[in-house]
Amino acid sequence: MPLAAVIGHPVAHSLSPALHNAAFAAGRLDWTYVAFDVAPGAAGAALDAMRTLGIGGLSVTMPHKEDVAAAVDELAPAAAALRSVNTVVRDGDRLVGHSTDGDGFVDWLGASAVPVAGAVVAVVGAGAAARSVVDALGRAGTDAIVVVNRTPGRAAAAAALAASARVGTADDIARADIVVNATSVGMGGDELPFDAGLLHEAQVVADLVYHPLETALLRTAAAAGCRVVDGLGMLVHQAVLQQVLWTGVRPDPIVLRAAADAELARRAVAA
Ligand code: NAP
Repeated sequence: MPLAAVIGHPVAHSLSPALHNAAFAAGRLDWTYVAFDVAPGAAGAALDAMRTLGIGGLSVTMPHKEDVAAAVDELAPAAAALRSVNTVVRDGDRLVGHSTDGDGFVDWLGASAVPVAGAVVAVVGAGAAARSVVDALGRAGTDAIVVVNRTPGRAAAAAALAASARVGTADDIARADIVVNATSVGMGGDELPFDAGLLHEAQVVADLVYHPLETALLRTAAAAGCRVVDGLGMLVHQAVLQQVLWTGVRPDPIVLRAAADAELARRAVAA
C-alpha cells in the first residue's frame, strides 16, 4: 500500500491526515497518510527514510521547509524561487521538492469566484506564507501586488518574488481590491493585523489564518460589507495539488473541505 506522510514539529495538531485520507478513500486510491513528528534539524534523515522505506509522497511543515529545500535532488520552479518545500514527490530514485501553498491560495480564490487577473492585491505580512502567495499571485496575472509588513526588509525580499510587486504602506490596504492577511496575527485571539478602518465594502478580504476559522479580521471585514475568504480553503487546495503530484489524480476539494470541517468539529467537541 503506498504511503504518504507529513513531517513537522509539532505535528499532532495537523489536519493533513484527515484531509488526505478522506481524498484517498473518496478516490478509491489504495494510499494511506500518516503524521511523523520529526525533530528540528532531522529533515535530511527523514528524506533518507523516505527513500529507504519507499514512502510515496511527503508533506513538509514547520520547521523543515527550508532544510528540505536544501536536501532534495531537484526543486520545481516555485520551490526554487522560495527556497522552501512543502511537498516532496518521488521521481524514480530522485526526490523533487515543490511548493503548493501559493498556488493553493490562488486556486481557492478562483473557487470562491474572486477574480485575480487584473486585481490589485495587498499582502500583509512577509513570512513564508506571504512569500508563497506573492510568488503565485505574480504568476496569476494580478495587476499589482503591494507587500505591507512590520519589518520593511522582509517586505522587500517578498516583493522581489514577483515583477508586479512592490513594498507598500497601510494606505495601500485601502486602495486594494483584495486584501490578504498573511501574518500570524489572529491565531487564537482577537487581535487585528492592521487598522480595520481601512477596509470598505468593495473589497475581498482573505485570511491565511484558519485557527480560529472565523478570525477577528474576517468578522470585522464582513461587518464592513467586504466579501471574506477563510484560510482553511488554502490548506484544502494546496492539498489537492499535492495529491495531483503524488498520484496523478485530482481529488474533489469539497471532499477535503468536508473532512477538515468534520475534524475541526470533532476537536471542538473533544476540547
Ligand atoms: P512566519 O514566516 O513566521 O511570518 C509571520 C509574519 O507575521 C511576518 O510577516 C511577521 O512580521 C508577521 N507578524 C507576526 N506577528 C506580528 C505582529 N504582532 N504584528 C504585525 N506583524 C506580525 O509565518 P508564516 O509561515 O508565514 O505563517 C503566517 C500565517 O499563515 C500563520 O498563521 C500560518 O498558520 C498561516 N498559514 C496558513 C496556511 C494555509 O494553508 N491557510 C499556510 C501557511 C501558513 P515580521 O516580518 O515583521 O516579523
